[in-house]
Amino acid sequence: MILGSPLTELKGVGEEQARKFAVLGIKTLGGLVEHYPRRYDDYSTVTPIGKLRPGAVTIEAAIKQVKGRRVRRGLHITEAIASDDTGSVRLIWFNQPYRAGAIKSDQRYFVSGQYELGRGRFAIMNPSMEMVSDLPINTARILAVYRSTKGLTSRQIRLAVYQALPLIENIPETLPLWVVKEQQLLSRAEALIAIHMPSSVEKLAAARRRLGFEEVFQLSLASLLNKQENQNEPALRIPFQEELAQEFVRHLPFTLTDTQRRAVWQAYLDLQKPYPMNRLIEGDVGSGKTVVATMVALMAIEQGWQVAFMAPTELLARQHADTIHALLSPLGKEDLVTMLVGALSASQKAKARTAIKSGKAGFVVGTQALIQEKVDMHKLALIIIDEQHRFGVEQRKLLMAKADHMPHVLSLSATPIPRSLALTLYGELDISLLTEKPADRKPIITSIISPNARAGLYGKIDEELAAGRQMFVVCPLISPAEEIMEAETAKARGLPPIMSSAEKAYEELRSKNFKHRRVGLLHGKLKPAEKQAVMERFVRHELDILVATTVIEVGVDVPNATIMLIENAEHFGLAQLHQLRGRVGRSHHQGYCYLLLDDSGAPSRRLRALEQSNDGFSLAELDLSLRGPGAIYGTAQHGSLDLRVAQLTDTELITSARESAQKLLQEDRNLLQYKELMLHVNRLRAVTNLN
Ligand code: ADP
Ligand code: MG
Repeated sequence: MILGSPLTELKGVGEEQARKFAVLGIKTLGGLVEHYPRRYDDYSTVTPIGKLRPGAVTIEAAIKQVKGRRVRRGLHITEAIASDDTGSVRLIWFNQPYRAGAIKSDQRYFVSGQYELGRGRFAIMNPSMEMVSDLPINTARILAVYRSTKGLTSRQIRLAVYQALPLIENIPETLPLWVVKEQQLLSRAEALIAIHMPSSVEKLAAARRRLGFEEVFQLSLASLLNKQENQNEPALRIPFQEELAQEFVRHLPFTLTDTQRRAVWQAYLDLQKPYPMNRLIEGDVGSGKTVVATMVALMAIEQGWQVAFMAPTELLARQHADTIHALLSPLGKEDLVTMLVGALSASQKAKARTAIKSGKAGFVVGTQALIQEKVDMHKLALIIIDEQHRFGVEQRKLLMAKADHMPHVLSLSATPIPRSLALTLYGELDISLLTEKPADRKPIITSIISPNARAGLYGKIDEELAAGRQMFVVCPLISPAEEIMEAETAKARGLPPIMSSAEKAYEELRSKNFKHRRVGLLHGKLKPAEKQAVMERFVRHELDILVATTVIEVGVDVPNATIMLIENAEHFGLAQLHQLRGRVGRSHHQGYCYLLLDDSGAPSRRLRALEQSNDGFSLAELDLSLRGPGAIYGTAQHGSLDLRVAQLTDTELITSARESAQKLLQEDRNLLQYKELMLHVNRLRAVTNLN
């Protein structure tokens, strides 16, 4: 038996069960070992039958009077009586006819299951049972609950893991021994056994700490090594020109915040270093990242270099092109701005590509269209990636590959993850935080609105519209057809069908409550030209209300829009709601965000948190703690952040793992003494690499 062996090597796992394991992505014994439990049920306490209370219980008993019968088509019931010195209790199994034959009357068994009201009397329902032993697998212990699939239960997965124990016991250590000692960690083998078959709560915690530590440790090594590598690359040095920076600032319609100024300054220093810049500007929605990026880019274009600014959507790319055009025109450099997006006509695209290739386009703004093969850059020296987490590593690399020399990279992100975390996860990046909002901003007023308060709300909104403001209305779905589909899925899952569509909301608003206002509709199924036209009308204030889907979630900047109304708010995640809310409150006018509930039940903690806080960083922390391990705020597409054990809220663990990683690299810069570890880390480097 080796980690690479197929599951059929295990006793009791045949071809058919192996196929079910494959459904879960488990093809080898190694895959089985890595299939960590989703959660645990504590059945470790053996209770005398006379003292049973409803809930998860374990008894140690003899089992008698076993009877199986078919009640009707598709329902078979097995019943038995379990007894110990303190009393008796009924056991009931549904559709497990084999039970009857498996019970020996002269044996003692551990029986674990839910003690509850079943068929009129209290009984232990569908229990697991096995003969009393020192190492029970499915009873009388903390039981791992796995992600399972039809025909493959946690019970069966536990049996398979049990079969594999001799193999797991011999799994070699992957961490340096001094780290294991210094951090008082379990060995890898011990931790893997305990994560699947914990002997106590304490042992399980130790196993989680060990495996979580390893995850963060390897991730830290990966990003530190990436950073080392980046620092070995020669850079195009871009000297700082003070007068130019001053002139840019002089023409701004506002004063930069202190953190904006610091971010620009840090980037200017980076541009003069002997190795390429790799900096992340992290700032909450509305903190003003675009102007920072533009000011940094200015230094490069002034000196004849090309800058490429890539945004995740066409809407955003257009908006950035306009913004940058406006910011550069007082300096007479607006002609350098060229936009390349998929929706341009063939001849427009050809024209843009020619300008890009010749270098006439010094400041190229676009979408993924920029990374197409046909696009040739000219003296590309700086890449700016907006909404960084929306792009995969590959896309970044493709854009970088357009440069003759390793370019400088500036990434922008509104994903406000806590700093300690950012340093670990993005260890290869230097980070500038924009912690302030521009000074003229008032905090957005957020309110949760129950269905019966809708009419009153519309009155209040109309006053704002009458005063010249504008409103976004966001719906989770596009069309009534989708509503019907959604209703069916909801019904199948036993949930109420409540989602509303943008098309329906649009029809209702413009024909009823807001028929005296100009209402527009924006969603992902419109043609690019239609989207652009609607957006432009909204920007020019030819529309008062824009009904949309989450296409407007990212980056859209219309300062005169002050109201964000979100239908079916409970259907969105915290990060997404905060992003949506960030579309308003972008000027000196008071911003409002209304979260509409489907029914008059109590709102979730997520919504209440939004109502109370405007701070993306604290919401991010809350989101982390609500979601538990693995999930991280707003970064669903980021492969490297797929931590399975480490709690992202566990700052202590994250900090010590990062420090150990740094210490190891001081001792052995290239991990030459740790071949096995290097293998793991190299695999991670491929996905964490933000270079
Ligand atoms: P984000 O960080 O979400 O990308 P943007 O760059 O879109 O934010 O900026 C949001 C709005 O704030 C824009 O309208 C921009 O012109 C404005 N802005 C940026 N910096 C300042 C500032 N220091 N003072 C006032 N307004 C600012
Ligand atoms: Mg932005």
